[in-house]
Amino acid sequence: MIDPASQFGEDHETIWRLITDKLQEEIPRQSYLTWFKPLEPLSFTDRVLILKIPSRFYYDWIESHYSDHLKRAISATLGQEIEIVYDIDSSKPSPSVSRALKVQETTRSPSFRGMAENSRLNPRYRFDSFIEGDCNRFARAAAMSLADAPGRTPFNPLLIYGGSGLGKTHLMQAIGNHVEENGFARKVLYVTSEQFTTDFIKSIQTRRSESFSRIYRNADVLLLDDVQFFMAKDKTQEEFFHTFNSLHQAGKQLVFSSDRSPNDLESFDERLISRLQWGLVAELRLPEYETRLAILKNFASDEKIELPDDIAHFLAIHVTDNVRSLQSALIHMLAQSSLIGRRITMELARDAIKNLGKQVFREMTVEQIQDVVARTLGVPADLLRSKTRKREVVFARQVAMHLAIEFTRLTLKAIGLHFGGRDHATVIHARDNIEQIIKRDHKKAELLADLRHKLELASL
Ligand code: ADP
Ligand code: MG
Repeated sequence: MIDPASQFGEDHETIWRLITDKLQEEIPRQSYLTWFKPLEPLSFTDRVLILKIPSRFYYDWIESHYSDHLKRAISATLGQEIEIVYDIDSSKPSPSVSRALKVQETTRSPSFRGMAENSRLNPRYRFDSFIEGDCNRFARAAAMSLADAPGRTPFNPLLIYGGSGLGKTHLMQAIGNHVEENGFARKVLYVTSEQFTTDFIKSIQTRRSESFSRIYRNADVLLLDDVQFFMAKDKTQEEFFHTFNSLHQAGKQLVFSSDRSPNDLESFDERLISRLQWGLVAELRLPEYETRLAILKNFASDEKIELPDDIAHFLAIHVTDNVRSLQSALIHMLAQSSLIGRRITMELARDAIKNLGKQVFREMTVEQIQDVVARTLGVPADLLRSKTRKREVVFARQVAMHLAIEFTRLTLKAIGLHFGGRDHATVIHARDNIEQIIKRDHKKAELLADLRHKLELASL
């Protein structure tokens, strides 16, 4: 055990070197070089280590991927907790970053700090940085209207639910930030359900249940994130139930999030499920292509990254699972490009997508698709672009149109133009017709599958 203060005085560099030596044993070298090498220790006083960090992307990434590693490395080398404060490198031209400047911590722990007295909202989670799309319009609107009049709208409680990485935390904290900035309530408390549980258990162990109630029942706006965490925790659910009743009766604003719909909360008290739905339930769905594109462009401009349109488009068609993955892809490219001094290229984008564990296919041109289809079906490719209405050619042409819809992002109209200037209705007809054919003709279905496979291979 080493007492960092006495052993090293104020030597931040030694401390950081010890921690990173340990870290390097735990994480892959490439990850270490990418994420930790660029950090620079600035000072160490009163058990607070200040690290300079290149941008908020680094902070987010480290926070979500390595905070446990970091904690372990700290406790293994120093034998006690210290606080890490990130100072975002403000010499870099990035306005949103300098706004978010500083004081973000990763090593804070309940035993060290006591209960969640303060909400510690992330200043970056705001309504204006939350891109609107069909997938979130309703939830966003509800959140915005209650943030203007907490406790005084019918949206009480508001329950936001949706899969991981779709923006629940962002939206909840945006409510908190908005309320705080405008002074619409005295006390805003944002807390994860995990923290709520920890606080509750600790209050029983230390027989300080009054302080627990004082903190939680004094909130004017309680933002409780990820309530699915209460599943199968009967005692905590009960406490949550009492907290709910007490605040709701007092007209305080309640906002909850869950990664699933209330009816899918297993082993949840029925009374609680019903209360969660008293106000408004709003779902966050997967963003559609246009929203994904808008989100990417927004991230990029926040970070002052030049993101060419074709690359944005490429990422938006490949990364469909959630917003966090979109962000990860961008962060990965950013890290690679600044590390190796490369510009953002298609190659980097493909790399980033592979890094997310996704299959990458290159967008193909209609001509490439026509060639593969023509070769496989023994029809001259030129004829696919001609006016010929010979049966074999019509079939091959329709198959190629069908695949062009799948393997390119061209509009139906643009696809039609590549087939001898046909209109978009013809392309739709081709798609529908092929779909009908493969339903009843399994040989043709196999043929199509085979073609698809060929195209996938050709485009990798
Ligand atoms: P969840 O809590 O649902 O798992 P988060 O709120 O943590 O998801 O969102 C993951 C990341 O995606 C965050 O960095 C968040 O800022 C970002 N994000 C999610 N939805 C949007 C959106 N509509 N516009 C901009 N950023 C978004
Ligand atoms: Mg969350």
